[in-house]
Amino acid sequence: MTHARGTALVLVTLVLLVPASGCLGEDGLQVFPEKKGVPGGLTLACLRDASFTSMVIEIDHAPGYRPYTSSTDLLVERLEQVCEKPGGIRIQYNEVAFGEQASWSAQDVRDEGWENKDASPMDGNTLQWQILFPEGTYEDESVLGVAVDASTMALFSDAIEEADGLFGRPSVEDVENSVIVHEAGHLLGLVNLVYTSPVNHEDPDHPGHSSNDDSVMYWAIESTGLVNFITGDLPTAFDDDDLADLAGLASGDIPVRDQLWP
Ligand SMILES: [Zn+2]
Repeated sequence: MTHARGTALVLVTLVLLVPASGCLGEDGLQVFPEKKGVPGGLTLACLRDASFTSMVIEIDHAPGYRPYTSSTDLLVERLEQVCEKPGGIRIQYNEVAFGEQASWSAQDVRDEGWENKDASPMDGNTLQWQILFPEGTYEDESVLGVAVDASTMALFSDAIEEADGLFGRPSVEDVENSVIVHEAGHLLGLVNLVYTSPVNHEDPDHPGHSSNDDSVMYWAIESTGLVNFITGDLPTAFDDDDLADLAGLASGDIPVRDQLWP
């Protein structure tokens, strides 16, 4: 897709729609023996306040890779908009030495994530999601972020650093703001990851993503599209269709599948 464009900037995020197959990652060897699930597998656990009344976002970052405060503030704001958490949503920062790994696969993110989790994703009354900010890039260097299971995602700051626009619009900070909300959207099940929307807003060519470039769940920002975003702003919010899906899931009007809870 991108090769013919030479040096054109391509910002891509990736969601893994199916768990890794094969013999890797046997749950019995994990510190937390529960199933890892698929992105969207803890959607209801976030949207509803039954069982999980508060939420922690664990940020495990390499030294020097702590995200912008604007990114984590925005993430909390967006989650508070849709998730019922009367006990609050807070950020927990950990500096982690991941090693000097230059290239990350989805399985690497999953393995390092689960090795470093402070707590089970379903820890008492607290729902715990985790974001890795490692050194290095995804194996496909155009990927800025990945959601790898129901509670784990990663942002690749070294790739994000290269993804800002001409004259700093959008800035590196702008890009990180959008990508962090986008990946959290996948953990919320957007788009159609664990349900089928009554509204047709999934891009047929990019499963799991919105066809609306005003949604933070827009599938990607390619070289041609990026021009538009330089004169405008990167989306950082869920659009009305995304929000309607989440409301329908929370109320039970939209059937949900593949949930780890309840
Ligand atoms: Zn995505």
